[in-house]
Amino acid sequence: MISDISAIAAGVTIGALQVQSLLDPLDNRVLLCHALGLSRVSLITRSERELDAGQAARFAALVQRRLAGEPVAYIVGQREFFGLPFEVNGAVLIPRPDTELLVELALDRLPPQGRLLDMGTGSGAIAVALAHTRRDAAITALDVSPEALAVAGRNAAANGARVDFLHSDWYAALQGRPPFDIIVSNPPYIAGGDRHLAEGDLRYEPPGALTDHADGLSALRIIVAGAGSHLKPQGWLLMEHGYDQSLQVRELLTAAGYVEVRSWCDLAGIERVSGARLPARPPA
Ligand code: GLN
Repeated sequence: MISDISAIAAGVTIGALQVQSLLDPLDNRVLLCHALGLSRVSLITRSERELDAGQAARFAALVQRRLAGEPVAYIVGQREFFGLPFEVNGAVLIPRPDTELLVELALDRLPPQGRLLDMGTGSGAIAVALAHTRRDAAITALDVSPEALAVAGRNAAANGARVDFLHSDWYAALQGRPPFDIIVSNPPYIAGGDRHLAEGDLRYEPPGALTDHADGLSALRIIVAGAGSHLKPQGWLLMEHGYDQSLQVRELLTAAGYVEVRSWCDLAGIERVSGARLPARPPA
């Protein structure tokens, strides 16, 4: 079957598939680029080319996977974050645009030659974006999942970013390392049993990156409790959290003796990141 690429990019019938009525137009274009091995630009500039039967079959197979619910990022194996391409697979969370807020807050606070730790790095999106932007910084990133660390390592290499990766269950493998200026984390914060875990892309993402299988706050509690031993005086702790957790996270920080406790809003205007500083001298 021969079809015009520009017509398919806009959405047409391929065989029995009503592509336009079923797929989001952006998903449709991304899958078409992937099936044809074309960039978004060449999809437009070479739109007069026709699909051969093999290409049409490849595209149709990708569309079928999307229709079955698989996230586009996993189908094409990539997602952009902070303007950089990141490899993703089922071992890592798909980077969200909202998490760029955490990167920006860390960049605003990172001193020259600063030391930063990313806890639960997953695809490495946060650490690699930071290391790519700030070549002078010493970035350490840890994860408990060896599969995630393999993905993160490839993302650092592919983006020319220098990151020191560490296999660690939260702070366990950090003993004896010098303290950091900033600790950042986008930990699993969805409560076990939250209905969102059974919906959309989340069904395909690693549960260990999404939920603590408890009240949603247990990873955040561990991070807050341990950060004091790994931050320099006046160092910053910045954490992404759920849409309804900002008050509780601020309370955790205040109770642990942090100062300048506050939250910041994501692109949707929801308090999505909370953070604070260690006092100049540890509380007595
Ligand atoms: N932001 C993700 C979501 O709600 C969850 C990520 C996380 O648990 N760290 O879809």
